[in-house]
Amino acid sequence: MPGFEIFGDEERKEVTDVLETGVLFRYGFEGARNGHFKALEFEKKLCKITDSNYSHLCSSGTAALCTALAACGIGAGDEVIIPGFTFVATFEAIINAGAIPVFSEIDETLCLNPDRLEDVITSKTRAVVPVHMCGSMARIDEIKNVCDKKGLILLEDACQSIGAAYQGKALGTFGLAGCFSFDAVKTVTCGEGGGIITNSKEVYQKADQYADHGHDHLGGPDRGADDHPIIGTNYRISELNAAVGLAQLNKLDRILDTQRKNKFAIKDAMADLPDVSFRYIPDTKGDSATFLSFFLPTEDRARQIAKNLADNGVGCPYWYDNNWHYYKKWHHLKEMKRSAKLAFELTGNLPDYKNLVLEESDNIMKRTLSMQIMLSWTKEDVENRIQAIMKSFKG
Ligand SMILES: *Cc1c(COP(=O)(O)O)cnc(C)c1O
Repeated sequence: MPGFEIFGDEERKEVTDVLETGVLFRYGFEGARNGHFKALEFEKKLCKITDSNYSHLCSSGTAALCTALAACGIGAGDEVIIPGFTFVATFEAIINAGAIPVFSEIDETLCLNPDRLEDVITSKTRAVVPVHMCGSMARIDEIKNVCDKKGLILLEDACQSIGAAYQGKALGTFGLAGCFSFDAVKTVTCGEGGGIITNSKEVYQKADQYADHGHDHLGGPDRGADDHPIIGTNYRISELNAAVGLAQLNKLDRILDTQRKNKFAIKDAMADLPDVSFRYIPDTKGDSATFLSFFLPTEDRARQIAKNLADNGVGCPYWYDNNWHYYKKWHHLKEMKRSAKLAFELTGNLPDYKNLVLEESDNIMKRTLSMQIMLSWTKEDVENRIQAIMKSFKG
């Protein structure tokens, strides 16, 4: 998964380009920057990779989500449907917008279940944010159908799934906008960074403005001459971070090839284990293969196998117990622990987060283990890993 495993001369060269000019800012300084526009170049490349018309690079995946929500016109009092299995950033961004996260069930894709969406849609629902977890996809075409039928905005959190596609179409391109994270442990890293893609000129312009204090970027060399069509904030990325990401993005094909090769070797080896079934992947060809996720028949068996795998040096995340990725441990949200009153509290009638139970999700997550696929594994590492897995299933 993590691009940081393959840092090399390419990243150093891009960073040196920037350091040699001293211009760490993505806008302006045309005379001094020696033609280097790393953020802009990254955006062009991201458009090409995802076949999108527009993209905007900003300071984090969380900032990308905040910016995309704003650019799509989602704000105070709007209900936004998300899964209970995601990273906390998804609901943080919605709360930041003054909007209300409404949790819904996942299915065996480990992503939002399109069949359960209508159960939680109300007159206040404005958007659905499926999260393409662990490198693979939701049943995104079916989710899109529900959104279209109900007149809801579809915004994809593809933060974990750069390079993944459904039937040849990049994740992040199915709705009004899509978001990626390029944080330190993601498939492609800027150190810190995030990207928004969209085919809507209007959404792009709003995103570009919102993430830079509302600047319309039309004032020419004098930034002070820009107008400010909307109130924004500062979610800009620095050229240094963009430079690292640019070198990484140029390695994406190689990253995906390696991940797929490693993942499928292990998956093939596990296919005959009687206890194991695999996460449902609607289009296996489009899997970015950052994780191999599999199900055991019961919670007890999953916990036993998790322990055996860890004992044999091939530990796997058991998300059901995870503090950051599963709603059961989000005590801060459940108890509404925050540093100050939040805008969404003023809208009244918040969902009962404290007593939230997602029974179908629990039944899946209790039985789920995910093995992270690394880029640095040698052929021998993969073989040893397979031996360790086989041993773990004998116990
Ligand atoms: C990493 C991640 C984010 C947030 O990205 P940051 O760049 O760390 O802010 C959002 N959603 C999901 C699903 C993520 O995995």
